[in-house]
Amino acid sequence: MTDPRHTQSQALYERARRVVPGGVYGHQGSVAGGAYPSFLGDGEGCRVRDVDGNEYIDFMCAYGPIVLGYRHPKVEEAVERQRRRADTMNLPGPVFVELAERLVEITPGADWAVFAKNGSDVCTWSLAVARAANGRELVAMVDHTYHGIHGWCNHFETGFPASDRAGVRTFKWNDLGSLERVFSEAPGQIAAVIVTPFRHEAFESSVLPAEGFLQGVRNLCDREGAVMIVDDVRVGFRLHIGGSTQLWGVTPDLLCYSKAVANGYPLSVLLGADPLREAASKVFMTGTFYTQSVPIAASLATVTELAETDAIAHMEAMGRRLVDGLVERAEARRFEVVASGPPAIPFMTFRADEGGFDRARTFASAIAKRGVFLHPIHNWFLSAAHQARDIDAALDAADGAFAETRSAFPDE
Ligand code: PMP
Repeated sequence: MTDPRHTQSQALYERARRVVPGGVYGHQGSVAGGAYPSFLGDGEGCRVRDVDGNEYIDFMCAYGPIVLGYRHPKVEEAVERQRRRADTMNLPGPVFVELAERLVEITPGADWAVFAKNGSDVCTWSLAVARAANGRELVAMVDHTYHGIHGWCNHFETGFPASDRAGVRTFKWNDLGSLERVFSEAPGQIAAVIVTPFRHEAFESSVLPAEGFLQGVRNLCDREGAVMIVDDVRVGFRLHIGGSTQLWGVTPDLLCYSKAVANGYPLSVLLGADPLREAASKVFMTGTFYTQSVPIAASLATVTELAETDAIAHMEAMGRRLVDGLVERAEARRFEVVASGPPAIPFMTFRADEGGFDRARTFASAIAKRGVFLHPIHNWFLSAAHQARDIDAALDAADGAFAETRSAFPDE
């Protein structure tokens, strides 16, 4: 069915289907089609435009990377300056050292940094560093947490042998007893425990750490001689400049960043403490593009802007305005919605959906038609570019979208 608002988008999608398996794959394909476009053309600040010219206030921020807004002038200036010199070279450029120094300076407990491209790279590499450090083989992760696409943690088993998961044990979020059990069932064998700062899985409301949970993980790792790894790939730089778990007073041994670290340029970072430096220097880790200077220059500008402005507090304030407004407007249409996650990375589900997402999908489509890009089953992201007027415009759109959703679910 051709949507008159998305003729270019649909034409591109048809072409993609002929030459790309699945057309648009992975999470980028998850909302494509229907009221959503499949292809975007450009972005500025907190807004994106699709290839047909429809504009959206964007609450996905490219699934996290766009933390300062699209085409942030300071980041783009740093990028242009570096691009005029070179990007990919035989050796790293000076910005490689400057960024490592900067990140070590602003991150409690971090004494060194290494760079890669994707969150998956550094999450997997962090396990290797831990194993190299203590000579153990097993790692513990929270059940069904997304740490990337590699075989040990890929959410889908298709294409990966079961042996890829042989070194992984799982425990439950906010359940220290279940982590204790992992340790006691494999005494002296757990090399590392990897956690995210809060639980933010797709298809679920987000869950913050219970009082003492992250500290409890820290204590158990210390008691058992395991390395504590925080996967801050999704959350990093939206809650705290020194790593998200600082908000709960917890410093990990290894900290994984990607997404927001370079405002949309491809970069990931593993930060670590001194006791792991030697292990990190022994594990072979390389990639043709890992030392690219343009993304590193973008990161230096991004991190500096985040550190020197009130961007993080601003995102929280704007996120709170959005969430409070949504709850209020939902109530006006007799919907009970559940707002979850920290305000800068919020999510909203409908109580009556009871684990399904029918109302959420209807609402997301209805608000997309009204020029707001968010996601029915995946958490959202604020950026420093969102201003009160953008939030208010999104809430006006939400009003219409809740009304349309109520028409679709009239008898409750
Ligand atoms: N860890 C977490 C918590 C993530 O959210 C993601 C990406 N969504 C990853 C790891 C993997 O990052 P990437 O997509 O850059 O490989």
